[in-house]
Amino acid sequence: MRQSKTFIPTLKEVPSDATIPSHILMLRTGMVRMVGAGIYSFLPVGYKMIKKVSEIIREEMDAIGAQEFHLPALNPKEIWEETGRVEAFGDTMFHIKNRDYVLAPTHEEIMTFHAKGVVKSYKDLPQIWYQIQTKFRNEPRPRSGVIRGRQFLMKDAYSFDSSFENLDKSYDLHDKAYRKIFDRCGLKYFVVGASSGAMGGSKSEEFMVKSEAGEDTVAYCESCGYAANVEVAASITHGAPAHNDSPAIFEIPTPGVKSIDELCAFLKINEIETAKSRVYISSEKPVLVLMSGNDEVNETKLEAVLGDLRPGHPDELKELTGADAGSIGPVGFKGRIIADVRLKDANKLYSGANKNDYHIGGIDMNRDVPQAEYFDLRTVCSGETCTRCGKNLEVFKAIELGHIFKLGTKYSDAMGANFLDEEGKDHPIVMGSYGIGVERVLACFIEQNNDERGIVWSKALSPFDVHLLGLNMKKEAVAEASEKIYAELKNAGYDVLFDDRLDAQAGFKFNDADLLGAPLQIIVGEKNLQNGNLEVKVRRTGERSLIPLAGLIDFLKTTFDSMPA
Ligand code: ATP
Ligand code: MG
Repeated sequence: MRQSKTFIPTLKEVPSDATIPSHILMLRTGMVRMVGAGIYSFLPVGYKMIKKVSEIIREEMDAIGAQEFHLPALNPKEIWEETGRVEAFGDTMFHIKNRDYVLAPTHEEIMTFHAKGVVKSYKDLPQIWYQIQTKFRNEPRPRSGVIRGRQFLMKDAYSFDSSFENLDKSYDLHDKAYRKIFDRCGLKYFVVGASSGAMGGSKSEEFMVKSEAGEDTVAYCESCGYAANVEVAASITHGAPAHNDSPAIFEIPTPGVKSIDELCAFLKINEIETAKSRVYISSEKPVLVLMSGNDEVNETKLEAVLGDLRPGHPDELKELTGADAGSIGPVGFKGRIIADVRLKDANKLYSGANKNDYHIGGIDMNRDVPQAEYFDLRTVCSGETCTRCGKNLEVFKAIELGHIFKLGTKYSDAMGANFLDEEGKDHPIVMGSYGIGVERVLACFIEQNNDERGIVWSKALSPFDVHLLGLNMKKEAVAEASEKIYAELKNAGYDVLFDDRLDAQAGFKFNDADLLGAPLQIIVGEKNLQNGNLEVKVRRTGERSLIPLAGLIDFLKTTFDSMPA
C-alpha cells in the first residue's frame, strides 16, 4: 500500500480523552475514531487488523470442526423472553423503540432457536457453531476505548451435545483452541475459574490479561499459575492470636476513636488484636459481620453465605446496637453473627462496645461470641501466601479477553430444544458457549507491546510486514530505487506499506513508522544509496543494519522470516 493513497490519519499529540496506551495508540495510529461514547469506527489500517485477528480465530475454530454462521443482530424480543433474559440483561440490552425488537448482546437464544429447528436426534450431535459478529451492550461506563464498547465484535461459539460427558469434550476443544488463538496473537494471558453471571450454567473459565484498564481484580501466583477473581480467591493467612489465658472482658473509654487504625494508635495495640464489625441487612434481618483488623470483607463471598444483602443504614445501626458505625461490636449483639475464619478461637480481642466512644477488650470468641458462624470472607491482598504452592500472590486489575462456559441445559430447557436418544427418548440438548472480544485482542496486544514511540507489532498481527520509507522522494534516485524495492518486496510476497509521500520530512516519516510499529523498516536514503546500500531497522530492538541493495530480499528472508511470530 502506498501511504500517499491510504487513509492513515496519524496524530502527533495524545488525544485528551484517552488515558490508557491502547486507546491512545489506536487513535494516534489512525486505527480508530470515536463516533459516540463506546462507539468506534475502524479506519482502513484498524480494520485490516480486525481481519487479521478474525482470521487467526477462524482458523483455530475451523480446526476444531466448528462451522461459521452469521446471525442477525436485530432479534425479536419474544425469543429472549423465552429464557427470561430480557430481564436478566436489564438496561444493558438495547431495545428498539415502538417495536418488539432488541439488539443482541450475545446469541445463545438465536443459536438455540436454530438448534431446536434442525437437531432431531443424537445422530445430529455434536455441533459447534460460531460467528464473528457485532454485539450491542449498553455498558454503563463505556471507556478505555474499544476495550469496553457499546458496539463490539465478538467471536461467539456454541456447542450442542447429547450428554454432559460430551460437553466436557467440546469445552476442552475450545479451551485448547483459545490457548492457540491467544498464543498465536502473542498475548501474555492467564486463565481464571469464574462464576458465570447473566449467562447462567455451571463451570466457566476466563482468559485474562493484566491491565490497569481492567474492571476485574484477580489474585495471581506467578510461580504455580493459580489465578482467581478476588471475589473467590483464597490465601493462607495467620489466625488472630489464641492465648492460653483468657481474662474477662472489660470496657474502655475511647473518645473519638472510630477506625481500627485510630483504635490501635490509641491503645498501642496491633491490628491483629482487633475485630471490626459491619452490619448488613439480609432478608430484612440484621447480620453482624466480623473481620480481623482492617481485613476487607468481600461482598461476593458474603453473598454466597447470606444470599441478598445490603449495608445497614446509619439510623438502622443506631436502632439495632445503640451505637454508630465505629463503635459497634459483637458482644451483646442481637442477631446473626458471621465471622471471618481468621477469628476462629481467637481471644483477648478488642472491638466496639455498642456504645459510642467505648470499646471492649478481652473478647474471647468462643466464650463471648458463641453464636458466631465462621466463613472465608476476606478479600485477598498482594503479598499473601498462595494456598497451592506457598509462594507470594499478586493482586491486580485484569481484562477479560475470552470466556468459556458450560451452559448445560439452561437454554435448551427454556426454549424446548430437545433431541431423541438411541431409545427414542426426549432430552434437552447440552450446551456450551464460548466468547472472544475481537477488538479486545487487539487492544490488549497493544497494552502489552508498546514503547514511548508507539506500537510494537508482532509478525502475526502487524498490519504490514515491512514499512518502506523513501526519505526524500523528490530526489529522482531515491524515488526510483524506492519504487523498484517496493515492486521487489511485493513480488517476494511481503505486505508492504510504502511511505512514498512527497512532502513529508524524514523525521516525520521515522516517527510515523515507529508509531505504526511494523516489525521491520526499510529506509531508502540518498547517502546510503550512493554507496549502493539501504538501512533496515528492527522496530522491537531498534537494531539497524546496512544492506547492499541487491541483498535485500535475502536479508529479509533470514531476518524477517526467522523473527518469532
Ligand atoms: P466484562 O466482564 O469485561 O464485561 P463479559 O463477562 O460481559 O465481559 P462475555 O459476556 O463473556 O463478557 O463476552 C465474551 C467476550 O466479549 C468477553 O470475554 C470480552 O472479550 C468481549 N466483550 C464483552 N463485553 C465487551 C465490550 N463492552 N466491549 C468489547 N468487548 C467486550
Ligand atoms: Mg460485561
